[in-house]
Amino acid sequence: MAKEKDLGFGTLSIHGGQFPDPSTGAVMPPIYQTSTYVQEAPGVHKGYEYSRTQNPTRHALERSLAAIEKGQFGLAFGSGLAAIDAVMKLLSPGDEVIATNDLYGGTYRLFTKIFENWGLVFHFVDLSNEDEVKAKLNDKTRVIWAETPTNPLLRIFDIRKLATLKEGRNLMLVVDNTFATPYLQTPLDLGADIVMHSVTKYLGGHSDLVMGALVVRDEKIAQDLYFIQNSSGAVCGPMDSFLALRGIKTLHVRMQRHCENAETVARFLISHPEVKKVYWPGFPGHIGHETANKQMRGFGGMLSFELKNDSLERAFTLVSSLKVFTLAESLGGVESLAGHPASMTHAAIPREERMKAGLSDSLIRLSVGLEDAKDLVRDLDQAIKKALE
Ligand SMILES: *Cc1c(COP(=O)(O)O)cnc(C)c1O
Repeated sequence: MAKEKDLGFGTLSIHGGQFPDPSTGAVMPPIYQTSTYVQEAPGVHKGYEYSRTQNPTRHALERSLAAIEKGQFGLAFGSGLAAIDAVMKLLSPGDEVIATNDLYGGTYRLFTKIFENWGLVFHFVDLSNEDEVKAKLNDKTRVIWAETPTNPLLRIFDIRKLATLKEGRNLMLVVDNTFATPYLQTPLDLGADIVMHSVTKYLGGHSDLVMGALVVRDEKIAQDLYFIQNSSGAVCGPMDSFLALRGIKTLHVRMQRHCENAETVARFLISHPEVKKVYWPGFPGHIGHETANKQMRGFGGMLSFELKNDSLERAFTLVSSLKVFTLAESLGGVESLAGHPASMTHAAIPREERMKAGLSDSLIRLSVGLEDAKDLVRDLDQAIKKALE
């Protein structure tokens, strides 16, 4: 077979880091549902001692993750937040982190409610504003934490440009690549040091597991992360590893359709007389569109929109009237989901703060799934009508 670096993304999704099970020839790695492994004599074993440390099904997934993200080393965790937790444990009290100011809520909570107590210092800034970032950079800065596209306004940050800030500094750029997936964007190729995923979303792809991942190229960072993964112990189980691996094998096919369907839905919404604004990185007027064009291979399956009449009730009626879209948190599965940030994911944020962050009362977020696009459009059309009654 050709060297992995020469293979296309679809081939890598299916074969990257994979080989038949050595003991039986099984094409898919068996679900090694075991906690421990026999030793022929004390300390004499086949490289597997205990499943927190080593599990063949998890290892198969970790090799796949490394391959699709163009890294050298992959690590799988019990959730996306467990993966983020492991990255923060690379740091010491007094170390500083610069993060995007519209961070995923769970990440923000982990940073401010847990790690601030342990002496880490966080600065939340607009990562597209280089002056703002530079104003917070100092000798203690160890991590720049970026998400792109962001949630729910689909803001785009230039990864290559952020990577230039590392020059001459002991600094890691971490990119949460959950929304884009490696099908659309490979941050390690753009200068990032660590790629993070909530595998729960597109990589798993079927809304049937909770999992996180990290991928790196640098061996020292990898060794430190493996040490934390084993020492803190937030690993995922073999069954979930199997499901994630199965999801990844169709990632390229799913993402292609997610992108197509999201584009159809975005174009329908932008032409609707009752819709004020559509947040979708594919529109030339979208802030960051140029950067998205440069660093992404498509615009993804996520979008948000606002009604002209910015009322909480109308948005509420709209999302409650959807029949094909399911009203739920999360994203990235085969089924389309709709969410109303003001009353769901961002309800805990005071209204004034929400407004300042650009989250209006009528903002609705869609994770566009793999159903027939015409059914999604028809569903939105009837729900908008209901909201206007
Ligand atoms: C869901 C999500 C996370 C957290 O992942 P879990 O698997 O829910 O722990 C982190 N970042 C982004 C962008 C997410 O969407």
